[in-house]
Amino acid sequence: MENTNKTVLVTGGTGFLGIHTVLQLLQQGYEVKTTLRSLSKKDTIIKALEEEGIADFSHLSFVEADLTSDNNWDEAVKDCDYVLHVASPFPAQDPRDENELIIPARDGALRVLKASRDAGVKRVVLTSSFAAVGYSKDIKDHIFTEEDWTDVNAELSAYIKSKTVAEKAVWEFIEKEGNGLELSVINPVGIFGPAIGGITSASLDIAVSGILNGTMNQTPVFTMGVVDVRDVADIHIKAMIDPKAAGERFIATSNDAMSFYDVAELFKKERPQYAENIQPLEPIDKEFYKEMSNEKAKTILHWNPRSREEALLASADSLMKKS
Ligand code: NAP
Repeated sequence: MENTNKTVLVTGGTGFLGIHTVLQLLQQGYEVKTTLRSLSKKDTIIKALEEEGIADFSHLSFVEADLTSDNNWDEAVKDCDYVLHVASPFPAQDPRDENELIIPARDGALRVLKASRDAGVKRVVLTSSFAAVGYSKDIKDHIFTEEDWTDVNAELSAYIKSKTVAEKAVWEFIEKEGNGLELSVINPVGIFGPAIGGITSASLDIAVSGILNGTMNQTPVFTMGVVDVRDVADIHIKAMIDPKAAGERFIATSNDAMSFYDVAELFKKERPQYAENIQPLEPIDKEFYKEMSNEKAKTILHWNPRSREEALLASADSLMKKS
């Protein structure tokens, strides 16, 4: 255990990525704090971590805080060296009013940054999304990199807009009012990998459960990059401590994008025992496949993600074990 003198806050320990991030930090010997909207969810987190082999909870503490309120953020960031701001609303269906997502995403991120700056935190790592990178430009013959930004004025779903608006606001804050606080941003594509303690997210619910239980009965004309949650937690920690990560954003993706047809075919081939409810889906045209690069994360952070197949099969295995 090499890092016992550093304290890290992870916002949203109840989430799919949040719990994996808390787990890896504890495994690496950090002191960890995590925020929850309600402390009543503490037991779910402890149970999930116990299932993953954590026995000593003296290095983990909980603070109740909501992204839509100022309460307790100063308490949450107190004594922290680093803050990983993972929490943000990610519903399976967009709400009718986009502000239900945009306000907590943007104002919540600004609350976390202000509190971090005022408490003397060294660096914040923000979980943004590929949503803030690759959702307005024409995808034809384009390989998306960290230079790309989704245009907030394009026609966007509420979730995609919320992530783009929040990331933009955060960079602006750092430039104008950061007062030396460092920022690094992670832009993950669709996050898969194992659900621990039964904690899933919209990505698993839609693209894994939806395909396996047969509610997905048409292939959306859309492709997604895939990345394993364990690698997304790992890249947050790498970006937290690597001096070269300050002021940078990093796309977190394994390799090429997949359609939901491709995901269904993978499950049918590799996990025929789960495939009885999978609906016949049609392939989509190659012109709809997005390309995105993970070169920057690999080169600067020496990040080496698992394959998309391993990520998706780990999701399916963990979900089928629970059902
Ligand atoms: P998740 O399981 O739904 O986690 C979302 C977390 O945000 C939960 O802990 C949730 O708390 C918290 N949260 C939502 N609204 C909040 C509020 N008003 N105040 C405080 N906390 C709030 O989804 P996830 O996949 O782990 O997402 C984690 C992060 O990764 C998000 O920033 C998401 O945008 C980003 N991301 C996800 C994917 C993906 O494919 N999964 C891809 C790219 C980026 P409750 O448990 O109380 O609801």
